[in-house]
Amino acid sequence: MGTWGYTYLSLLAWMFALTAGFYLLEWLRPTANRPTWRERAENCAYLVLVLPLILWVQPFFNPAFDYAINVTGGGLIRRILPLPQNFWTTVLLTLVYALIWDVWHYWIHRWQHMSPLLWETHKFHHSDTAVNATTQGRHHLLSHLLNLVLAVPMLLVLGTLSPPALIGLLMFRVWGFVNHANLRVSFGPFTSIIAGPQWHRIHHSTELQHRSKNYATFFPFVDKLFGTYYAPAADEYPPTGLGEAVPEPFLRQAVHSPLAVWYERARCLVRGGAKTLSG
Ligand SMILES: [Zn+2]
Ligand SMILES: [Zn+2]
Repeated sequence: MGTWGYTYLSLLAWMFALTAGFYLLEWLRPTANRPTWRERAENCAYLVLVLPLILWVQPFFNPAFDYAINVTGGGLIRRILPLPQNFWTTVLLTLVYALIWDVWHYWIHRWQHMSPLLWETHKFHHSDTAVNATTQGRHHLLSHLLNLVLAVPMLLVLGTLSPPALIGLLMFRVWGFVNHANLRVSFGPFTSIIAGPQWHRIHHSTELQHRSKNYATFFPFVDKLFGTYYAPAADEYPPTGLGEAVPEPFLRQAVHSPLAVWYERARCLVRGGAKTLSG
């Protein structure tokens, strides 16, 4: 088996181990909005199928990533903060890395909500009517592509800077599960400091007062900074989803729904342009 196969299988092993662990937690202390087995299974099956595509497409972006890193001589951060390597500078640079990553993704995420065109890449993630740990892997392939394209400007700043392995694991493997877990758990006084299941549930809520709130992945104070912070009340665990009376079938949402909407919009645009020209 090649490196590709090992990467795929090890990622799957991680994902399924975490899914099982979080399932137990969700069983102990769920919100009123529990997913069915079918809903969990659909999200897991989707991840199994989309992961090879993500792994296949990622190397195509490597030349752009390398260029962004080389053109700045390893990233602007290293030039701005040329610090000697010790424990405290590692802590500082890890915090800087996480903060820059979160602010950048805050704006990508907010843009996906504000632009009708980009909303189509993100809608699938929000259509889960019972958000749970498996929702963390429910992102349309187009959303992954958008994030890969928009990783290039971020690399100009971060360059080769990366968090220590354990922090990287927490940030990029575990935290998606924490944020989406169907848990009746509040982070109390830490709600505005570190994102948790109750805080991110607000972002997935069907209720009007929660719309366009709580975009950050790790640090809720980033939302405070940009005016989109919503503090959940002690017992506030709203229902999630798009609030549609009849949701689209899973496979349609997961595969061709955004493309169909984009095609229809382009057709209207071309028709409108042709009418203007002939009129
Ligand atoms: Zn969102
Ligand atoms: Zn989410």
